Amino acid sequence: MGNCIDRADALVLAHYYAPDVVQAAADFVGDSFALAQRAVASDKPVIVFCGVSFMGESAKILCPEKQVYLPAPDAHCPMADMATEEEIAAMRASVPDLAVVVYVNSSARLKSHADVVVTSANAVKVVSRLKEKNIYFIPDKNLGAFVAAQLPEKNFYFGHGCCPIHNATTADEARAALAAHPGALLLSHAECPAAVRAMSAFVGSTAGMIAYAEGSDAKEFVIATEAGTLYELSRRCPEKKFYPTRTDFLCADMKKITPEAVENVFAGNGIPVEVEAPVADRARRALRRMLELAQ
Ligand code: SF4
Repeated sequence: MGNCIDRADALVLAHYYAPDVVQAAADFVGDSFALAQRAVASDKPVIVFCGVSFMGESAKILCPEKQVYLPAPDAHCPMADMATEEEIAAMRASVPDLAVVVYVNSSARLKSHADVVVTSANAVKVVSRLKEKNIYFIPDKNLGAFVAAQLPEKNFYFGHGCCPIHNATTADEARAALAAHPGALLLSHAECPAAVRAMSAFVGSTAGMIAYAEGSDAKEFVIATEAGTLYELSRRCPEKKFYPTRTDFLCADMKKITPEAVENVFAGNGIPVEVEAPVADRARRALRRMLELAQ
């Protein structure tokens, strides 16, 4: 057991998909990249990151001088490793004029092989600014297809990865939810399958979905993303109604993060996130390139 952490020394960040009670107790709630940016901007020496492992890694890569803790170190995004270094090497060897574009929902090791990292919010802008004609977009084939549809001047190659939670939602579920709530607008995360994206009033990042709902005149929305997002939607738009496409639209790994797990970190039982220096250095370059291109 290590030393207790003073709450005043720590910034507690929670992802929109963390349990409601964890979001309620956090200093800041956001999507993965907004949280990483908060970590960088913070003057606190400790970051308690209520998210899955790739999010803690990104925070550590971007602010190596800080101690970063994940309350549930075994909360791991299955999509984060759905591409391999061998697949990237094979693509680089066989396709000329290629940029390897890695979604931020990926392991540090995968990011370290990227030419640039993207988020679901900035992927279209960042990829449009790459000079390369050929784009290898990994690991999320659904987000990749969403980006490709908006950039016909590029030639895309996809991997086989996807978010098992978002990819499992179906157009039939969305239709049933819309039939149950006539007049509601469907808002979808770009990680959803093409059939769901095609019937949506808005497709984008979790933060983009929230901003769309806030700015819309509509009063009811069907939401195709992790159900934890409904907490922030209801907090920001208490006069509007939100319905998930299905009630079990839940990420089991995100739900491993409990108030007790957060307390355990403050009690000195957390293990700081570490990323090997060569991996962190290469991944940081790809993250910084994203920041330049997203401006
Ligand atoms: S919702 Fe999907 S992409 Fe997000 S952490 Fe869970 S498994 Fe990964």
